[in-house]
Amino acid sequence: MALVTRSALFARARRMIPGGVNSPVRAWRAVGADDPFFVARGEGAYLEDVEGRRYVDWVMSWGALVFGHADPETVEAITDAARDGTSFGAPTEREVELAEEIADAVSSVEMVRLVSSGTEAAMSALRVARAFTSRDRILKFEGGYHGHSDALLASAGSGLATLGIPASAGVTSGAAGDTIVAPYNDVVAAAAAVERYGEGLAAIIVEPVAGNIGVVPPADGFLETLRALCDASGALLIFDEVITGFRVARGGAQGRFGVKPDLTILGKIVGGGLPLAAFGGRADAMERLAPGGNVYQAGTLSGNPLATAAGLSVLRRLRDPSVYEDLEARAAKLEAGLRPFGDVQRVGAMLTLFRPGYDELFRGLVARGVYVAPSQYEAMFVSLAHGDDEIEKTVEAARDALADDRG
Ligand code: PMP
Repeated sequence: MALVTRSALFARARRMIPGGVNSPVRAWRAVGADDPFFVARGEGAYLEDVEGRRYVDWVMSWGALVFGHADPETVEAITDAARDGTSFGAPTEREVELAEEIADAVSSVEMVRLVSSGTEAAMSALRVARAFTSRDRILKFEGGYHGHSDALLASAGSGLATLGIPASAGVTSGAAGDTIVAPYNDVVAAAAAVERYGEGLAAIIVEPVAGNIGVVPPADGFLETLRALCDASGALLIFDEVITGFRVARGGAQGRFGVKPDLTILGKIVGGGLPLAAFGGRADAMERLAPGGNVYQAGTLSGNPLATAAGLSVLRRLRDPSVYEDLEARAAKLEAGLRPFGDVQRVGAMLTLFRPGYDELFRGLVARGVYVAPSQYEAMFVSLAHGDDEIEKTVEAARDALADDRG
């Protein structure tokens, strides 16, 4: 018998932690499950829960883990770093190395600052854009999720889409009022918004491949049009590559699609599974940051030594182009396997199976040892730890789950 059950743990969690979780989608509410699993450990493509069940994991910490769980090289890098101290709040050599590695990979990044979460990175990039342009307004897209800072929560995807929260309570009308929202992939609406607000527009912020409404690739010409609208209006183009960075190509979506933003937001893979994110771009904009400039941004744990060690360990291995060929091939194989069950949208190693009854499919998969996102509005993240066995097991589990459901 298991020493601890998920339901007992979740009951305890709910007494102390709102909703029992530290990030909303983790509660599995949208997929009609009573209790989420509690993870005990992970290895490669697999998770093991506290009740001893094993799952093929397609969530991979929401895309952060490109070499799978407990990747030995990453663990060694973190362990080595920890022996020398876990936080200094003073400059370290690895911060410089990581900044150089990011700039080498992402063509538009001339300077970069390290932070601890994608939320912080997006919030800070907006502040830079507003200071640089001396303008207040921003244009974002429906379903775009850029973390949970006030200005960016309007019509956001991810957990807000999952839970049907169009705009968060607790956000002032001032913060929300400067955010203009247009439908994703709608160049006419984007052009109309720029026409109307252009002179007051500091930035257009976009996920270059939408990932927080499920995967939606950019329509032909969408990103190019945003670039042209920014050039014409003087707004900065910000690509939120928290998901796509180092995933759809080493150079991110901007490398894959050949459109150059002014500022880029990175997270997830860049920190190798530790809390690290980054924002960077044009030097003339980034140099506005304190201490050289008057845009304030700071962090006790920014550029943390364990996180930079993990990030460097991962990013250095991603220099090898065969990694991306490999990811593409594995993701294409998963896509082909899942296609009979619904509409699959994929860009590189991120994909979503869209279908009615996603919640039943989720429960059927979990019961068969396959963990996918507990929401239709998220993605499956393929890693280098996912091989043919895991893909076949997943396709088989989906077939059985849906057959059972009909029967
Ligand atoms: N931007 C995008 C595109 C994201 O997907 C996320 C999180 N999934 C964020 C920003 C926020 O990152 P974090 O959760 O690290 O704050």
